[in-house]
Amino acid sequence: MHTHDTVTDPAADTTMGPHRFRNNQRMVPAGEAAWKLAGEHGMLDIRVDAANGQNRLRDVRTGHEFLNLASCSYLGLNSHPTVVEAGVRALRTENVTGLAMAEFRIRLEAAHRLEEELSELFGTPVLPSISCGVISAAVLPLLASGHITDTDPLVVVFDRFAHFSMNFVKPVVADESLVLTSPHNDMDFLEDVCRRYPRVAYVCEGAYSTGGLADLEGIKSLQEKYGMYVYLDDSHSLSTQGPNGEGYARSVFRELDERTMIVASTAKAFGSTGGIAMLGSSSVFDFLYRSGPMGWSQGMRTAAIGTTLGSVAVHRSPELGERQHQLAENIALFDRRMKGRPIRGVGSHIKFVTVGENEKAVRLATELYRRGYYCSAMFFPVVPRGQAGIRLMLRGDMTTAMTETFVDTLQDVLDGFL
Ligand SMILES: *Cc1c(COP(=O)(O)O)cnc(C)c1O
Repeated sequence: MHTHDTVTDPAADTTMGPHRFRNNQRMVPAGEAAWKLAGEHGMLDIRVDAANGQNRLRDVRTGHEFLNLASCSYLGLNSHPTVVEAGVRALRTENVTGLAMAEFRIRLEAAHRLEEELSELFGTPVLPSISCGVISAAVLPLLASGHITDTDPLVVVFDRFAHFSMNFVKPVVADESLVLTSPHNDMDFLEDVCRRYPRVAYVCEGAYSTGGLADLEGIKSLQEKYGMYVYLDDSHSLSTQGPNGEGYARSVFRELDERTMIVASTAKAFGSTGGIAMLGSSSVFDFLYRSGPMGWSQGMRTAAIGTTLGSVAVHRSPELGERQHQLAENIALFDRRMKGRPIRGVGSHIKFVTVGENEKAVRLATELYRRGYYCSAMFFPVVPRGQAGIRLMLRGDMTTAMTETFVDTLQDVLDGFL
């Protein structure tokens, strides 16, 4: 049956997808044009040795040394001796890289211990997995169909700025239930959905990856009023915030119940590799271990179990607070000195400088790199069209002096740009 009268090529009519939640035909060319530009300026495929850490990476082809401001290892735990050593020790002790089978059948005792240690550290049941993206791919379709809540299907509302790892599963989720996209942090939109449908889940981030925070109080009050389910990805504030590094979301969602799941990557500030889900109870753990890629992809590898246990130990030591404190100092310093400039992310370690055109963003990144700082140029579709810019991240393993010098440089470069 013909629904597109203007389509002259019948083959095109039948091979084109409905593009309800994604559109490679449109997105790929836009993205590729920007990446080509970045590549031509030498801002991609930089190969380094990291022997002197993130503050002094060395481009092995040119010898150029630079401070890395594109790393999500916000506390520098990825090179902490305790973390690295724990990974090596786990491999030596277990003598196997991994069991290469489904964890729900057989897993290392060390993996079970990891679950217990993480749960104790974060004060709630914690499910570890190989990545945060894998957890979202496993959970979201089952949340939509009502199998996490043990109810009929839920309407799933994705915040417009929700991370790619969650947006990516939208078409799968939409095959199970109604999917809606809300304007960013729009509590009125969300409340309207809660009034109209009996069961609603909201999918969002805590500290957003391109800067900015979720309206946690607003979300919590909708949860209390309508029983809304909250699926919150807090990858960018795990470890950097909270007495035990439990993150930004847990500052409001302190006690988790059956209507809240907070997930996060442990490959960012946590300094290891993998992902975790924090839940109100462990009753769905067995089910989740068998679900989606958590069931059919690899389980936690031995080295990852080791480095994660090592990072738990650091989280339990005074060093966590010290590094969090230094990060907070660096953020305050940056905000104070950059006040009045068009930079998003005040109060956050993630800063976004909007410059407009792709070409300008690449030129800015290139000049900063020349002066010893790598920041990521970012383009549509990661940010809205015409709002390209650079993203930079401060870290707790940068000294105050390093941050001062960087701010001096950034101001100088921006003065020539904006
Ligand atoms: C980086 C990131 C992820 C991906 O985490 P993995 O553990 O690498 O899958 C997921 N969510 C957000 C918000 C992220 O920034």
